[in-house]
Amino acid sequence: MPDKPVILMPEDIQRIMGKDAQRNNILAARMVAEVVKTTLGPKGMDKMLVSPTNEIIVTNDGVTILDKMQIEHPAAKMMVEVAKTQESEVGDGTTTAVMLAGKLLENAEKLLDRKIHPTVITKGYRLAAEKSQEILNDIAIRIAPDNDEVLKQIAMTAMTGKGAEDAKENFAEIIVRAIKQIKDGNKIDIDDVKIEKSKGEGIKDTELISGIILAKERISQDMPYKIDGARIALIDFPVELRNPGIDTKVSISSPEQLQSFLYEEEKVIKEMVDKIKLSGANALFCQKGIDDVAQYLFAKAGIYACRRVARSDMEKIAKASGAKIVSNLSELTPFELGASKTVEEVKHGNDEFTYIRGCQNPRAVTILVRGGTEHVIDEIERAIRDGLGDVICSLKFGMVVPGGGAVEIELAKRLREFSQGLSGREQLAVEEFASALEFIPSTLAENAGIDPIDVLTELKSRHDAGDKNAGLNLFTNKVEDTIAAKIIEPLKIKTQAINSASEVATMILRIDDVIASDIKKSGMRNVGINGMQGID
Ligand code: ADP
Ligand code: MG
Repeated sequence: MPDKPVILMPEDIQRIMGKDAQRNNILAARMVAEVVKTTLGPKGMDKMLVSPTNEIIVTNDGVTILDKMQIEHPAAKMMVEVAKTQESEVGDGTTTAVMLAGKLLENAEKLLDRKIHPTVITKGYRLAAEKSQEILNDIAIRIAPDNDEVLKQIAMTAMTGKGAEDAKENFAEIIVRAIKQIKDGNKIDIDDVKIEKSKGEGIKDTELISGIILAKERISQDMPYKIDGARIALIDFPVELRNPGIDTKVSISSPEQLQSFLYEEEKVIKEMVDKIKLSGANALFCQKGIDDVAQYLFAKAGIYACRRVARSDMEKIAKASGAKIVSNLSELTPFELGASKTVEEVKHGNDEFTYIRGCQNPRAVTILVRGGTEHVIDEIERAIRDGLGDVICSLKFGMVVPGGGAVEIELAKRLREFSQGLSGREQLAVEEFASALEFIPSTLAENAGIDPIDVLTELKSRHDAGDKNAGLNLFTNKVEDTIAAKIIEPLKIKTQAINSASEVATMILRIDDVIASDIKKSGMRNVGINGMQGID
């Protein structure tokens, strides 16, 4: 009987198998790590990203770069996920995590070349990752939660090299004060810190305000610019008549009719305003529009009003002032109102802001980031977010490690010792894991124009001599005790980075078959990364 072909899948499905699949994935993942590599550390360079709409971002932040790059390759996308997880779990250390994952894969490739099976490599990597957690807990130093000095140093380490240099101390102070204020026992929610931005002055004018700042002005100059003893109403429906559809026809044949039509309209608006007045509110934040007549009436009633307030801001005001967001006018009673000491319009340069100070809930704080240009402000905001993330992490877990590559070198050293007790092939994998960690300090050096081999040699010999805090201090460009040099990072950055890097590396290594239903969309066709549009 003649053999009939067996058809498993439709023709347009593409399949890459075995070694090809593996190498293709590894290459893509390595390319991602390569992209962010030059940004690592205080001397890392920045990247300029141009979006399809010609929006420009200048940044040093790993996750921002990868997020904006429109990466398509499936394995590369898995690497981007590592950065995103790191960002959401810790808020910093994204470049480190991605670079580690890339280096783990690069080193795995060496082992594959030596005919070591992927399952052996993944087993070795998993052992190394587990052991790392144990070693890291041993290396870490406990900090006292009320030690503001250390917390400030952690914030400063996070912000080093991120355009915040001139005002780093000022920012560290703001970050620590903000976190102390939002801290609720052991609970700290980074979302309680609102960040608002204003152009015009220098970054040194960045300030912390107890309360909420909105980038909104009062809608009419006739309204009071300041309300003392504010009773705040939050509504998410418009105070205007619904826009008549395009097809709506109103036939009016006499001036009287027109008059009465307008009168009716006004009456409806007036009723709405009266209801709001009746609730006792003297400050109104509306998520939708407020029409001209209503503006006039609110002003006459001495009510301070802002319109088109973003939902996220509405929620923040609700939390801070105790107000409920009301969706139906008949539900607005004095019980739904929130309270604050003041609601006030404040002008910075050309921008007007509404400050809500002295809120019922003292845990509401806003950092107003100032800076010369939009790009500077955005990068400062990212630096401050890194600082916030690191300080919160350090407080939550109470453990820190020495920076400047010190912790990576110590970890590598102890992993090598651990590998001695393993069987031959797994031992090799653990050793490669260790050398992947050394890539962090060597890149820190390389990015600062220092010879990485010299630095690594010195670091290793210092650690062999028992100096477990020896790291590269890039303020002095010397190998030093980095705890003494105040280069301190939360332990969680490292445990999280190692965990997710080794997870993604082992996951990619275990893939030996890629089946793509739409080869074009899958990004598999040409290994790599579709650059940003507009840059080729
Ligand atoms: P990530 O996205 O991984 O946080 P960064 O660009 O923020 O990347 O760089 C973090 C690295 O820079 C860490 O390894 C940290 O220890 C190191 N680092 C920070 N400040 C210094 C310093 N003054 N000297 C040497 N290394 C530093
Ligand atoms: Mg960082």
